[in-house]
Amino acid sequence: MTHEVRIDPHTGTVVHIVTQRQNRPNLPSSDCPFCVGGLEAPEPYTVRSFPNRWPSLDEGYCEVVLYSPEHNESLATLSLRNMHELVHLWAERTVELRKLPHGEHVVIFENCGAEIGATIPHPHGQIYAFPNVPERPAQQLRAQWQPDDNPGDRLVLEMDGWRVWTEYASVYPVSLRVAPEQRIADLPSLTDDQCASLGVVLRHTFSALRHAFDAPPPYMMWWNQAPRAASDWPDAWLNMEIVSPWRATNLPRYIAGVEVATGEYFNPVNPSDIAATLREALEL
Ligand SMILES: [Zn+2]
Repeated sequence: MTHEVRIDPHTGTVVHIVTQRQNRPNLPSSDCPFCVGGLEAPEPYTVRSFPNRWPSLDEGYCEVVLYSPEHNESLATLSLRNMHELVHLWAERTVELRKLPHGEHVVIFENCGAEIGATIPHPHGQIYAFPNVPERPAQQLRAQWQPDDNPGDRLVLEMDGWRVWTEYASVYPVSLRVAPEQRIADLPSLTDDQCASLGVVLRHTFSALRHAFDAPPPYMMWWNQAPRAASDWPDAWLNMEIVSPWRATNLPRYIAGVEVATGEYFNPVNPSDIAATLREALEL
């Protein structure tokens, strides 16, 4: 097992070399480790978190979060009670992981769909606690990121103090943000009511994504929130990003050579069009 952090001397890109992950299991055939009674879920549960057996970080910490005991659920179908508990669990794990010596920045995320490399279909996400604030979140914090005030026809949903819209300059065909309209620094700052209303908004959002494509699209989702040293970042504003490579059902857009070469992107989908499709797919 090796873990080495390398920094490209020319671009500053940070790369974790984590060769032990090559030994991870691929799609388990029958016995799901996340179903009740499975390896990682011996007892009944509603939502659950536990340490990842195949951590990607040495100086840091990796956890798995189970969204539901039901193997075929997803964020698009989860009961609102389950959603509410999941938001509470995200907040609670943020508090707990920040107590670790290396818990400087807690990133909650999900890779959903085999196309995106999810190895187990049971609904789950992950949490990494970093010993530093990685460059991308740091960039957004330095830029004092705030919700789009005037998304216009890119607005997907406004509900109970939450706003969902498609990004102005999306790199991916689908690129959504979910954020509170009034500043909230992080998940632990949410009130119980806000946890509940966030659960409702997320259910609508993920369900609209599924209906918009008539199939569950592969996606990546992650939370941006204040680092542990929140007082250093008084403008930190909680938000979730959801991105999917699908430009149409079963038709992923691949990043092209010229895009990797230049860092400039060519998106075949207009963010206003995908927002309109998602608005139509909402079941309010
Ligand atoms: Zn399962």
